[in-house]
Amino acid sequence: MKVKVGVNGYGTIGKRVADAARMQSDIEVIGIVKTKPDYEALSAVRNGFDLYVVEESAKKFEEKEVRFKGTLNDLLSKVDVIVDATPGGVGKTYKQLYEKYGIKAIFQGGEDADVAEISYSTLCNHEEAYGRNSVRVVSCNTTGLLRLICTLDKHYGVKKVRAVIVRRGADPKEYTKGPINSIVLDPPKVPSHHAADVRTVVPHVNIITTAVAVPTTLMHMHYVSLELKTNVSKGEVLDSLASSPRTLLVSSEDTGIKGTGQLVELARDLGRRRYDIPELVIWEDTVTVVDGRELMLLQSVHQESIVVPENIDAIRAVAKLEKSADATIEKTDKALGLLRGRLA
Ligand code: NAD
Repeated sequence: MKVKVGVNGYGTIGKRVADAARMQSDIEVIGIVKTKPDYEALSAVRNGFDLYVVEESAKKFEEKEVRFKGTLNDLLSKVDVIVDATPGGVGKTYKQLYEKYGIKAIFQGGEDADVAEISYSTLCNHEEAYGRNSVRVVSCNTTGLLRLICTLDKHYGVKKVRAVIVRRGADPKEYTKGPINSIVLDPPKVPSHHAADVRTVVPHVNIITTAVAVPTTLMHMHYVSLELKTNVSKGEVLDSLASSPRTLLVSSEDTGIKGTGQLVELARDLGRRRYDIPELVIWEDTVTVVDGRELMLLQSVHQESIVVPENIDAIRAVAKLEKSADATIEKTDKALGLLRGRLA
């Protein structure tokens, strides 16, 4: 039997999670929830999802003659798991309602960690999320950092992480956000919140992060410097990263790809839906080992899609569909056609 899932909030993350969830053989998407009868509500309907609305906004949908199947409460009474993909800070206002319906809830990284029983990233702590009532999938930057850190920690032990996060200014649809022409300290202090967010999943890791926002909408870029617990060679690190799920090594020398614009162009050429790149991209030529234990590299994160596989795995965890991280990763990544290893 398939687990029944609803998605509250059909924006950047919600629409992607809904699409990915219905591609899984063990998950059924019962419906999605919208607050406004806008273009995203129209696309949900055209994409074949049953549309539900929050009670207060039903009139707006009726006025615009956008048909819907029921209210959020109706949807909650039909599902086993709700994925909350409402804007950051809104999810917590629904927590009690989800609890009232006795359903499991997945929250996103824009919520404070205490919204859920556990903060989550598949490669780090899938088993700890098994059977929980609520799970928070950490943000895009934190997911990117954690995929790297947990892979390296497993192979070599990670003693210390220092990272500079170059954040995209906005998502492509967010025309009111910036910066348009500045590099902004975001925040103007060290550490940025990402370090504490990483520790919500792996509390033992010594990490300091700092972040700036730049005028791009495509992807984030991280400079990461790590101190490992054992000596490694560059070849060993590359082999470990190449064997790690949903991690893609891109060599600029071999592919001619030197930045996020070309990565996105490749995703378009490959026919990726919405040009999504849910894989963590490691810039292979930047991987550098100094004195055996010091490792540095650049990596890129497609903010709109990197958390999608983790949301699917989180559904399997709370619904007790898969206890093993390897098993859920295999199912998710196969269904979504995710790559791993060297691009070329
Ligand atoms: P979004 O603004 O694109 O989508 C939010 C959706 O929720 C919209 O459809 C909006 O209409 C709807 N909504 C607004 N108020 C609502 C309410 N009261 N009840 C129900 N629905 C409501 O936001 P997003 O970028 O998809 O972000 C969602 C969550 O995912 C946030 O916690 C965010 O921090 C996190 N996240 C975002 C990104 C990203 O880059 N966009 C990456 C990772 C995680």
